[in-house]
Amino acid sequence: MSLNPAVTRRRAIQWFLVPVVAVTLALGWKYPVFGFVVPVVMLTGFVGGLFNGRYVCGNLCPRGSFFDRVIAPLSFRKTIPMFMRRMPLRWTILAAMTGFMIWRISQNPGDWRHWGKTFWMMCVITTTIGVVLGILFHPRMWCAFCPMGTMQNALGGNKRQLLIDAAKCKKCYACEKACPIRLAIVQDKDGGRLTSRDCLKCPECIAACPAKALSWPQKTG
Ligand code: SF4
Ligand code: SF4
Repeated sequence: MSLNPAVTRRRAIQWFLVPVVAVTLALGWKYPVFGFVVPVVMLTGFVGGLFNGRYVCGNLCPRGSFFDRVIAPLSFRKTIPMFMRRMPLRWTILAAMTGFMIWRISQNPGDWRHWGKTFWMMCVITTTIGVVLGILFHPRMWCAFCPMGTMQNALGGNKRQLLIDAAKCKKCYACEKACPIRLAIVQDKDGGRLTSRDCLKCPECIAACPAKALSWPQKTG
């Protein structure tokens, strides 16, 4: 089956990003400079979030790419529980992880190696949790409550929301099956627009829809 060009491009970029995770995890303990991949990705997500919500999560995050391309084929693909998507829990996790990071760095703030090791350690902990959840439950389960995803959701989750043509939609749910983070798309068809702020702005649902009922809003200006 030939893939939509946008899907092919996204998956190729993701395969290109997968080694970033492996190299960071494998070498960061010895070469703390690799730990600085973490703040670079965080900054990219922060800036991207201002313009297009969780686009970076869906298309440019090395760990998200690792989950989509490597963990997905190994996953049991169960449902992501709703409570994991709720904002109070997500803000609590974001606050706890930010506090932990600041506390660790404050123990030796003058040494850049200590900063790198702290970032690397956080990457190891969160990736381990993400891999376990990804295999046992759903590949993007970590992304349902990842602090960077929460930040992008808050900064621009309402930007460029997916359009749904209710007249064309056959309610076949192929879009929801293709969605990497399993968002409920069809329930919003009568409103004509996805309401979830957690959309990863990937092309998967648009490519999967047999009725061509999904599209992005036209850019204005
Ligand atoms: S894949 Fe298209 S037609 Fe099927 S439910 Fe989704 S939007 Fe509707
Ligand atoms: S709703 Fe569509 S664009 Fe958004 S994350 Fe799911 S598949 Fe990607």
